[in-house]
Amino acid sequence: MSVISLRGIKKSYQLGENRVEALRGVSLDIAQGEFVAITGPSGSGKSTMMHILGCLDRPGEGEYLLNGKNVSSLSRDELADIRNKEIGFVFQGFNLLPRTTALENVEVPLLYTRPTMPAAERRERAMKALVAMGLADRHDHHPNQLSGGQQQRVAIARALVNEPALILADEPTGNLDTRTSVEVMRILQDLRETRGITIVLITHEPDIAAHGTRIIAIRDGDIVSDEANQAAIAHP
Ligand code: ADP
Ligand code: ADP
Repeated sequence: MSVISLRGIKKSYQLGENRVEALRGVSLDIAQGEFVAITGPSGSGKSTMMHILGCLDRPGEGEYLLNGKNVSSLSRDELADIRNKEIGFVFQGFNLLPRTTALENVEVPLLYTRPTMPAAERRERAMKALVAMGLADRHDHHPNQLSGGQQQRVAIARALVNEPALILADEPTGNLDTRTSVEVMRILQDLRETRGITIVLITHEPDIAAHGTRIIAIRDGDIVSDEANQAAIAHP
């Protein structure tokens, strides 16, 4: 079974008098354990794709099956529930709460999905995710006391805390220097290899896309190529 199955996904926006077709009928299957990079120039439909894959928005037409479940026509509340339980998000801007510690930031998804979990267990789980990201000694630091790379690792720990089968990473290296970007890509590759987590990465940068085991290029709302990336498969 595919983790993600898209069938004829269309999405358009009304822009003044014009209708902009952001996705023109995208069909796609992503299997468990793939690291798929979706790449394309500005305006090609990457953000729209990310919003649909992340259940942040619904397709105009077509079907989206996530872990075998049709999520195309669920209500906003149902989508929010799926988003919190089944998907880990990593963003360009880290999106950490500034006035809370690294540990508290990682606890946040558990507050939504497991409201009755005892605080001690919540802390323990969050700590485990931070340890996996090599940040045990930074657990009581606030985001502004951490480097960009460390902040992104906190965000990845937060994405992992609910043990999702899928991580969606939207331009996760956009605010990072080259060396730190490579470090973050290695972490994502490692999550795929050691835990079998499916990764979908959205990026406009070819060097970053090259870390995926499969590279999908989109242009003007259509998939224009979809190829296995032997280099990343053979030399992780
Ligand atoms: P990318 O992320 O690759 O830059 P987008 O998905 O943001 O691409 O945009 C695809 C197309 O849809 C573009 O032509 C863009 O201008 C248009 N678009 C995206 N969001 C909106 C919106 N909220 N309203 C109107 N047009 C939009
Ligand atoms: P970036 O830092 O990559 O620009 P944004 O902060 O703009 O990312 O977020 C990308 C999209 O995801 C936005 O439309 C935003 O509303 C949405 N978003 C951001 N953070 C969350 C979140 N924690 N949960 C759900 N949606 C989010």
